[in-house]
Amino acid sequence: MNEYTLAKCIICGERCFVTGEKPRDRFSADIVRCDSCGHYQMYPLLTREEEKDEYDNDNTVRFSNIAGGSDFESMRIKFSEWTSEHVSIYFNFLQDYSNVLEVGAGYGFFMEALNKMPDRRFSIEGIEIGKFRLENFVGGIVHNINILTDTIPNSMRNKYDCIICIHVLEHISNPVIFLERIKDLLKPGGTVVFEVPNINCFLSEISKDYKRFMYLYEHCSYYSTDTLQLVFEKAGFKTTNIHTYEIYSIENHCRWVRDGVPFINYNQMFMPDERLEWINRIYKDEIGKQGKGFALTIYAKLN
Ligand SMILES: [Zn+2]
Repeated sequence: MNEYTLAKCIICGERCFVTGEKPRDRFSADIVRCDSCGHYQMYPLLTREEEKDEYDNDNTVRFSNIAGGSDFESMRIKFSEWTSEHVSIYFNFLQDYSNVLEVGAGYGFFMEALNKMPDRRFSIEGIEIGKFRLENFVGGIVHNINILTDTIPNSMRNKYDCIICIHVLEHISNPVIFLERIKDLLKPGGTVVFEVPNINCFLSEISKDYKRFMYLYEHCSYYSTDTLQLVFEKAGFKTTNIHTYEIYSIENHCRWVRDGVPFINYNQMFMPDERLEWINRIYKDEIGKQGKGFALTIYAKLN
């Protein structure tokens, strides 16, 4: 029999039951699942104070040994592979637009890399609320606006023909309202592209250690293809494309299965020699096609 909680689904408002999974960094919290739409989420959610502390100081990345150090330069090294991978995935798509906005721009590494592309046809601005990130921002124009609580300035309303948001929505405690407010920034006919972690990823099937590692207190939501599409529908968007792709290398997956840990100060996405990259590409493509990639990407337009 299902054990229900007081949690209400942050997508559809229905009741949720306990799954038995726990976030790795908060054993008093639970991963719960909506009885109606099947959405997985954290319960309880972060308090407003915990949220502010997390955003301002970037605690999870800086102080959990993921980034190999808490200073800005080690962060830049840590993210360099991630940044170049995302540039190669999204640059051609962004070339079809003129005013791009990145919501949750972090330190601005992605914007910085895009701004350096020689044949770039679009301009890009960012939105970010984290204090430490803003103090170290390298991506160019950035606005300190909290989408959920702040008033959007008139100068930014309906300005952007493409809004890109990478690994942010899983942190948002009220995703429907967040997406509804994103609409105010979007030009009529514009497109939004969001990338989030995929709960149904292949690595969580083959590594129990990774599955435990995947649940993180900072993440309010764990989306699948269905629930990601649903949250966009609830906010009045129409999905034009949704798919998964694998980010991490076959070598990284083997490490998880063998040793139950990720690579830390080591290449996680590509092979140690370019001549081995062909097998990595076949492996990653196949996982993406099966809908089990690490990342889940949705392209949507207003209804
Ligand atoms: Zn639900």
